[in-house]
Amino acid sequence: MPAQARGNIAIDIDECKGCGLCVESCPPKCLELTPDLSAYGVHPAHYKGDGCTGCGICFYCCLLLGQLLTEMGMREGLDVSWIPTY
Ligand code: SF4
Ligand code: SF4
Repeated sequence: MPAQARGNIAIDIDECKGCGLCVESCPPKCLELTPDLSAYGVHPAHYKGDGCTGCGICFYCCLLLGQLLTEMGMREGLDVSWIPTY
């Protein structure tokens, strides 16, 4: 039986700039850029829906940080109040 995912992430596709840093940084490769264009005219990242370990690496590498929040981060009580909003 496959291991149960320990994390789950939500990406605001309307704010994502499609830089791909989170996709490249994710150890289990459970993120990808969508084929569809967002309102910004970029291919936003999204969670494939399985395999997230909750490591938080994507959260810390995201150019916009607050646009990519991990539920793991929420559970761990990380202080995200310093993150600027755009
Ligand atoms: S928290 Fe870790 S495993 Fe989950 S999507 Fe982000 S980089 Fe990948
Ligand atoms: S690192 Fe942030 S801005 Fe870049 S693709 Fe991922 S969610 Fe989007």
